[in-house]
Amino acid sequence: MTEAIHTKVLIIGGGPGGYVAGIRCGQLGLDAVLVESHRLGGTCLNVGCIPSKAVIHSAGYFETMTRAASAKGLHGIKLASQPTLSMPELVAWKDGVTKKLNTGVAALLKRAKVRVVEGWANFSDAKTCTVKTKDGDQIITAEHVILANGSKAVELPFLPFGGNVISSTEALDLKTLPKKLVVVGAGYIGLELGIAFRKLGSEVTIVEAMDRILPLYDADLVAPVAKWLKTNGVTVHLSAKAKGRDKTGLIVEMADGKTETFPADNILVTVGRKPATEGWGLEKMGVDMAGRFVKVDDQCRTSMKNVWAVGDLVGEPMLEHKAATQGEMVAEIIAGKKRRFHPASIPAVCFTEPEIVSAGLLPSEAGPDAIVAVFPFMANGRALSMDAGEGFVRVVARKDDHRIVGIQAIGQHVAELSGEFSHALEMGSRLEDVAGTIHVHPTLSEAYHEAALRALGHAIHI
Ligand code: FAD
Ligand code: FAD
Repeated sequence: MTEAIHTKVLIIGGGPGGYVAGIRCGQLGLDAVLVESHRLGGTCLNVGCIPSKAVIHSAGYFETMTRAASAKGLHGIKLASQPTLSMPELVAWKDGVTKKLNTGVAALLKRAKVRVVEGWANFSDAKTCTVKTKDGDQIITAEHVILANGSKAVELPFLPFGGNVISSTEALDLKTLPKKLVVVGAGYIGLELGIAFRKLGSEVTIVEAMDRILPLYDADLVAPVAKWLKTNGVTVHLSAKAKGRDKTGLIVEMADGKTETFPADNILVTVGRKPATEGWGLEKMGVDMAGRFVKVDDQCRTSMKNVWAVGDLVGEPMLEHKAATQGEMVAEIIAGKKRRFHPASIPAVCFTEPEIVSAGLLPSEAGPDAIVAVFPFMANGRALSMDAGEGFVRVVARKDDHRIVGIQAIGQHVAELSGEFSHALEMGSRLEDVAGTIHVHPTLSEAYHEAALRALGHAIHI
């Protein structure tokens, strides 16, 4: 047993919630210790946002080259033969990206003078934990505890992970491309990965229990993704429930009540994520729960004094930028600043084909008194010049004062517009503010400008 550590702030978890809290604590001169059992960067940097986007990016290259190698070619470009794929090399490239970020996070924490303890933390009471390190047990006590334990993939009891039944983590590490991939769950993770594997050449079947893909969004916003799946040979079965597996593949109860088996080399189960609340003494900390999540107020305080919780552990949406924002805020509150987590929107992006951005209210959420205006990328020069004509930007605003309450977009590369959308909502922009802002030509952002103009009744290019 090593000597006990006492610190001002103890952070559990080195994901975006925890490591950002740590860096901000350091910047504010707070003595902080961060415990991580696995790898700095958490789910997001190691097995989530970043590696998935790396694989999606590579899959995009492969698909473009495949199209150029077809008889038709691509804009006059023809490759003499089909591209080949080495999955081990693709995975190694992806690992290189996450490694760079891992080391970056370690360096940032070091610069902020945050002490990192490697091992699994287990609490015996709200402010005391024992960390199992490679050198033995390390007791840590603290004035403040920030819980940032994150989340885990949901497992279906009749389809446990193991063998060829995989979660997103294993899917991002496959050394052999599955010839037949069956994806259970058409949420954003299943669709992002299913599309990437299709682009890499797998035969992909998606099984979804609801009657539509991406049920959080309206049909218009999702239609171009549904069209891509159809035209690119991805089979989607809606109102179909995965029920189990046999030697050949996935057993599914279809919409008509009949049972079918879909052959699969791999079955990717993406039926949601759940907060990581087990195995570390949460029950001994005396904090209240809100369903399966740790209950927090708008400052991320739990019901136990000076115990804070952030990120995926505290609720939906389980997104990196929410976790990081909350982590930063809690460090500032501990340092004496006045902060509250009350964003105008937590924008969300699906890195599907094409991409979807949603910030603020959908038309259905804004009510009948909203103005809704759409500008299609078919009328945007930049989208056409990138061969990315499908999609649109949609603006939702109040009729009375023209305040913008929601902005959505679907199309290639629209993820990069999300910052401008959330900035407008956060600043309380009116349609006239966007209409009166010069947007660079030729860019996709002009479609946003035009959507605002259209809401005001005077779009130029439509
Ligand atoms: P996590 O990142 O889960 O970090 C928690 C950390 O705590 C882990 O490293 C864990 O090892 C550690 N830990 C837990 N318990 C203990 C303990 N007792 N002792 C020591 N260490 C412990 N979000 C986006 O915004 N954009 C995306 O594009 C996106 N893509 C995703 C793709 C996939 C495939 C997945 C799975 C997720 C994706 N996400 C995305 C979600 C994003 O990864 C999470 O919202 C984010 O990582 C949450 O951060 P966090 O700090 O709350 O938790
Ligand atoms: P999910 O999106 O939960 O999708 C899983 C799908 O699997 C569901 O459609 C479900 O019907 C299906 N399914 C389950 N069981 C079966 C079965 N046996 N057979 C077939 N299908 C099955 N969370 C919110 O609460 N509110 C939000 O507004 C919100 N917005 C988000 C927007 C974006 C762009 C992103 C990236 C995330 C958002 N989230 C939101 C959070 C998201 O729901 C969670 O991060 C996470 O659960 C998503 O993981 P997933 O894709 O695996 O699952």
